Amino acid sequence: MEQLGKPVPEYLEKLDKLIRSVYAEEKKPVVDLSDTSIAFESKSDAELRKAYYLFRMMNYPTLVRIGSALALWGIRMRLPWIEKLILKTVFPQFVGGRTLLECIPTIEKLWQYGVYSVLDYGVEGKETEEDFNHTMNENLRALEFAAQQESVPVVSTKLTGMARFQLLADIQAGKQLTPAEREEWQNVRKRVDAICHAADRLGVKVFIDAEESWIQDPIDELVNEMMARYNKGKVVVYNTFQMYRRDRLDYLVASHERARKEGWMLGAKLVRGAYMEKERERAAEMGYPDPIHPNKEATDRAYDTGIAYCVEHFEEIASVNASHNARSARLQAELIVRKNLPRRHPHLNFCQLYGMSDHITFNLARAGFNVAKYVPYGAVRDVIPYLIRRAQENTSVTGDMSRELSLIVKEMHRRSLR
Ligand SMILES: Cc1cc2nc3c(=O)[nH]c(=O)nc-3n(C[C@H](O)[C@H](O)[C@H](O)COP(=O)(O)OP(=O)(O)OC[C@H]3O[C@@H](n4cnc5c(N)ncnc54)[C@H](O)[C@@H]3O)c2cc1C
Repeated sequence: MEQLGKPVPEYLEKLDKLIRSVYAEEKKPVVDLSDTSIAFESKSDAELRKAYYLFRMMNYPTLVRIGSALALWGIRMRLPWIEKLILKTVFPQFVGGRTLLECIPTIEKLWQYGVYSVLDYGVEGKETEEDFNHTMNENLRALEFAAQQESVPVVSTKLTGMARFQLLADIQAGKQLTPAEREEWQNVRKRVDAICHAADRLGVKVFIDAEESWIQDPIDELVNEMMARYNKGKVVVYNTFQMYRRDRLDYLVASHERARKEGWMLGAKLVRGAYMEKERERAAEMGYPDPIHPNKEATDRAYDTGIAYCVEHFEEIASVNASHNARSARLQAELIVRKNLPRRHPHLNFCQLYGMSDHITFNLARAGFNVAKYVPYGAVRDVIPYLIRRAQENTSVTGDMSRELSLIVKEMHRRSLR
C-alpha cells in the first residue's frame, strides 16, 4: 500500500488484509446492490422511460458540451424558455426543487423507502459579502426545516459558499492579510460558527464539503475548530476527506488521534474527490508533486482502507461512505455485519447524490442500513454548474453505456419496456 514512501503502519497492513479477505470471500453478499427491481421501485414506467431518454442523451459527450454551453448562455441572456426546458428535463432528475418547500415531495418519496435526505443549497461561485450572508441564511433556514423532519438529519454546506476563494488561497499560501482581509476572514468564521451552533441547538448535523487542495488547509482548520467545539460526546460537524489525495489516509488517522487527545469525536465523510484534473493541471503548471494518487487502484485502496478504519473505530468516529462505488458500499456493509454491529448504528452511514446510483441507495435501505441522498436545491441559474457536472459524469468517452444508463436499461428489460 502506498504511504508517501514511508513504512506502512502495522494497523493499516491489518486493515488491508481484512479488506482483501472480504473481497475474496465467495458467499452470498449481505446486500445485493444489483437488484434493479428494488433500485427503481419508486419509479413508474413513464418515469423510468423519461430517465432513460435523459441518460441516453447525456451519454453523448458532444451533446453534453453543446447543451451545457446553451444552458449557460441562455441563463446569462435570461431566456425564459431555456429555464423552462431545464426545469422539464435535467433539473427534476438531479435537483429536489427551487426552494425548500419544493423539495418536500422528493424528501417524502425517499422517506417512503427508508432513505434519508441531506439538504444541499446548491449555490456556487459567489464572491460578495451579501451573497455569503445569503448562503448562511439559507443554511440556517435549512437547519430549521430539517429540525422538523425525521427524514432530514443533515444539512450540507461548503466554505466557498461563504468565503471568497482567493481569500482561502491567500491564507493557505501564508500571505500577509490586510486589516480588511482579516476582518473578512473573521466574518467567514462567524458564519460557519453560526451554522454549527444552530445545528447543535436544533439537533441536526452538518457536513462540510472538501474542495481544492490549495484552499483545503484553512477549511480543515476551521472545521477542526468547529468539531472541537460541538462534537463533545456526540457528532454534529463532519469534515470531508478526499481519499484521492496521497496524504489523506494519514490525515484521517491524525484527525482521529487529535480528536481523541482533545476529547471530542470525529465526524468523517469519505469521498474519493471531485477535482482530479484541476489538481493535476495545477501541480504540473506550478511544478509541485501531484497530490493525487497515481492511479484509480491506489485511490480505491486508500478509500477502502479509510472506510475500514472508520468502521473499526466506529465508537469514536461517525462516518459517511459518500460514494457511487458499489464495491466500496458492499465492503462497508460486509464489515458492519462481520463485526456484528447494528446496521442502523448512527455512526455508520452511506450517501449518494439524488438522481444517481439508486441501485446502491435503495438496496442498502431495504437491507436495513443508514443511507441518505444529497438533495440539492436552488434557483435554476444557481444550480446550472452542478447540473453540468452531473451531465459530464454521465457521458461516455469510450462509447459504452454509462453506469446509470445500463442499470435503467436492465430494469426496462425486466419490466418488458424494451
Ligand atoms: C454524497 C456525496 C458527497 C460528495 N461530496 C464531495 C465533497 O465534499 N468534495 C469532493 O471533492 N467530492 C465530493 N463528492 C464527489 C466524489 O469525490 C467523487 O468525485 C464521486 O463521487 C465519484 O467517486 P465515487 O466514489 O462515487 O466512484 P468511482 O467512480 O469509483 O470513482 C471515481 C473517482 O475515482 C478517482 N479517480 C478516478 N480516476 C483516477 C485516477 N486515474 N487516479 C486517481 N484517482 C482516480 C476520482 O476521485 C474520481 O472522481 C461527493 C460525492 C457524493 C456521492
